Amino acid sequence: MNLQPDRLTPLTAQERAELKITDMRFCDIDTMPKRCTLIKVYTNAGIVGYGEVRDAATKTYAAMLKSRLLGENPLNVDKLFRRVKQFGHHSRQGGGVSGVEVALWDIAGKAWGVPCWQLLGGKFRDKIRVYCDTDVDGKHTGHDMGLALKRRMDMGFTFLKMDLGIGLLINEPGTLTAPLGFLEEMKTYGKHSVNAPHGSMEISQMSHKAYEINTVGHPFTGIRITEKGLDLLENYVKECREVIGYDVPLAVDHFGHICVEDTIRFAKRMEPYNLAWIEDVAPWHYTDHYVRLRNSTTMPICTGEDIYCKEGFEKLMKAGGVSVIHPDVLTAGGMLETKKIGDLAYEYGVMTALHMAESPIGAMAAVHVAAALPQVIAMEFHSADVPYWQDIVNGLPKPLIQEGFITVPDAPGLGIESLNEEFISTLICKNIPGQWEETSQWDGDICNDRLWS
Ligand SMILES: [Mg+2]
Repeated sequence: MNLQPDRLTPLTAQERAELKITDMRFCDIDTMPKRCTLIKVYTNAGIVGYGEVRDAATKTYAAMLKSRLLGENPLNVDKLFRRVKQFGHHSRQGGGVSGVEVALWDIAGKAWGVPCWQLLGGKFRDKIRVYCDTDVDGKHTGHDMGLALKRRMDMGFTFLKMDLGIGLLINEPGTLTAPLGFLEEMKTYGKHSVNAPHGSMEISQMSHKAYEINTVGHPFTGIRITEKGLDLLENYVKECREVIGYDVPLAVDHFGHICVEDTIRFAKRMEPYNLAWIEDVAPWHYTDHYVRLRNSTTMPICTGEDIYCKEGFEKLMKAGGVSVIHPDVLTAGGMLETKKIGDLAYEYGVMTALHMAESPIGAMAAVHVAAALPQVIAMEFHSADVPYWQDIVNGLPKPLIQEGFITVPDAPGLGIESLNEEFISTLICKNIPGQWEETSQWDGDICNDRLWS
């Protein structure tokens, strides 16, 4: 581990001209609550850029970019992004390219002595509203969820989101129709997908029968919700609203595993409860399903946390399939690409929120992008129950989230002064040991990257 303090003073013109990427290293920490893969991109001038691979992904997605970036000037962020863009893909696979792009912006900000939002075109606001994800484990009622949401409001949050899935119905007789035996298989092998997904993905969840069950697309499960099931879900949301009232926005996430026709029935039932949006009720790539859904309900329809780069967002927005997008900076292609996605959404009149389930590094990347877009309503936060979440970084206001908002920093780059290496050493993922171990095995990993002959 390199114990030299990272340089924070801006570079001279000559230093900027001669700046080069010299190394890229990683550190996997756990219980944030998800596993977070932190990135450091080192330079010959002592400046180190901080980035992060998307939550619960793998550093391989970033490490394979190292040989493509070594020796390059990190200030040419867009040039380097275009070189490695082809090695990213949707969902977690976007995490390598996106996380490295964030680290390059952090270097650029530190080298010029300006915050990242300034490099993205300036800011529209000084504070970013944070919406707080909430789930309740085990069998519970809408009243219980309402109380959990109320506790978030008591913490200062002004925008709420909760999980609502068929996990609530799966043990209630007469609420779901499915090919006989399939629900039992889901309960045995697909717990992660039918209940609120939190924590990190274990290999047992992505292998053998569990892989098969977890990767059945929503239209292909054969699961239908009965009227009794819809009654139960409607009553759940009604009970939530009875606790928190109707003044505060409430979004709903993680509803799926059913055909688009049943998502329409669900959406119509939700209309009286003025939800901010329903999220990812269909896989994002079925554009036609989204158009049918959006044209069938007054409920705002949201997706986007698994879409890599602006092309996928534009297709959905052009078709009229979404009312709200919520890209994750660490999947969408990084900070500049998310800015471009947000600008497109502004043109299409599509509300924009930012998905974020990562460490303070990912959070600050989202803060700078949210500051630089005209229409971002809020960014997500998954770690309200992790009291030490912020302690891995130094130099940010404490607590970072005050009365439900994060103040946009003025310090160079992401605004993070340094990483708290001592504290990080207590969170190292037990299955992925090491703290900024050397990665020279990736230095010569190269092939003909040209996509044509
Ligand atoms: Mg979500």
